[in-house]
Amino acid sequence: MNYNVIIIGAGPGGIFSAYELASKSPDKRIAVFEAGHPLNKRRCPIDGEKIKTCIKCKSCSIMSGFGGAGAFSDGKYNITNDFGGTLYEYIGKKQALDLMKYVDEINMRYGGEGTKLYSTAGTKFKKECITHDLHLLDASVRHLGTDINYVVLENIYAFLKDKVDFYFDTPVDTIKAVDGGYEVYCGDTVHTCEKCIVSVGRSGSKWMERICGELNIPTSSNRVDIGVRVELPAAVFSHITDELYESKIVYRTEKYGDKVRTFCMNPKGAVVNENTNGIITVNGHSYEDKKKQTENTNFALLVAKHFSEPFKDSNGYGESIARLSNMLGGGVIVQRFGDLIRGRRSTPSRIEEAFITPTLKATPGDLSLVLPKRILDGIIEMIYALDKVAPGTANDDTLLYGVEVKFYNMEVEVDSNLESCYKGLYIIGDGSGITHSLSHASASGVHVARSIIENQ
Ligand SMILES: Cc1cc2nc3c(=O)[nH]c(=O)nc-3n(C[C@H](O)[C@H](O)[C@H](O)COP(=O)(O)OP(=O)(O)OC[C@H]3O[C@@H](n4cnc5c(N)ncnc54)[C@H](O)[C@@H]3O)c2cc1C
Repeated sequence: MNYNVIIIGAGPGGIFSAYELASKSPDKRIAVFEAGHPLNKRRCPIDGEKIKTCIKCKSCSIMSGFGGAGAFSDGKYNITNDFGGTLYEYIGKKQALDLMKYVDEINMRYGGEGTKLYSTAGTKFKKECITHDLHLLDASVRHLGTDINYVVLENIYAFLKDKVDFYFDTPVDTIKAVDGGYEVYCGDTVHTCEKCIVSVGRSGSKWMERICGELNIPTSSNRVDIGVRVELPAAVFSHITDELYESKIVYRTEKYGDKVRTFCMNPKGAVVNENTNGIITVNGHSYEDKKKQTENTNFALLVAKHFSEPFKDSNGYGESIARLSNMLGGGVIVQRFGDLIRGRRSTPSRIEEAFITPTLKATPGDLSLVLPKRILDGIIEMIYALDKVAPGTANDDTLLYGVEVKFYNMEVEVDSNLESCYKGLYIIGDGSGITHSLSHASASGVHVARSIIENQ
């Protein structure tokens, strides 16, 4: 075998597996195969001038490369079992939290020191939320910010680069189980290993589905979250974001009893495009560096859609809705809340005249032509509910970008070591469907590395 361990994917899951293995078991020969570029070569070509919208690069620098989907993210590490994944169902709540805290310690050691750890413990805001039937979830949030997150990744890479063989721009085509391990195929080249950790994230979801099919690894899937990204003046949410930074608030709609939740809150941040399998959706981030901050805060409002038999393709449903917005707007659509309520599209002049400057160049349009009624009704209800705890949320000029889709990878059947039905083949991070966040994905990486070391 060429390697003791091959890791597929250099996102947080893969990086933390490599980190733990390299630091605790330095004799192991470890390789990381990554479809995207090294960190310093990752650059999205959209510059707002020459290139205004996504040109669908072969390897999307936002989603792929060293650092994975999280590399240019806001670097919010939510230390909680309440959201961000269901790792605790596999390894227990205490262990999951301990691993997330361990990841936080490493991030602090590699450049994150001095960044703020926010907490919902003891906040008065929780009571205020409940008064209006809004439910604030418990969490500690380490906010690295896009800039410090990048520095942490640079430093971890510097630690790893002489201990681990990195193969960038090298997508793995397939994996075959052989006697004593696995063959990993990249084009015409085959590498062999005793153990294989698969951490391909959201961008590798279709690949993961194929591999599970080829290897007959059981999977299940039935959920997709669909909604919009809300952008408003930072002052509207400042009393909440100053104290908590990120607040995850859940609301059950009166009309349908659907759950709507806030997601990925970026105080003084920017709204960005996201490319998932060639479909342009919306996301957001913010910087720790005050010079790079904007005057706006953004967050997503998402409605979870669970499907029952016979329909199985929940991601396909989400993709179709996102495709519709791409078809109408050529990418992401932006609409003022006031225009949506009055049943009219936003136009460039209505956006121009608004008292808020959009941070993303999106096409003014009508989200009611894109989002299913039930989802749109839920979002509108939640905006009015949020207006009670953050007055101004339901102002006419509040911007809604659509669509934001949170795709869930199908859940791969694994045991408490995150090992599949194949001995020595581990599926972790967002690619496993078990995690949906930086901290959970990273923690899953540490968990498998430890289990490999303990069972060697
Ligand atoms: C814009 C944005 C902002 C975000 N902000 C936050 C945030 O603030 N907080 C938070 O908790 N989460 C955030 N997330 C989500 C977070 O980034 C992910 O949950 C996390 O990165 C998952 O880690 P992962 O290692 O499982 O997968 P990923 O980070 O997706 O990494 C997987 C890697 O595998 C590679 N890969 C895929 N297929 C193959 C293959 N066949 N061969 C080789 N390599 C392959 C990909 O190129 C990728 O680099 C954000 C996501 C985005 C896109």
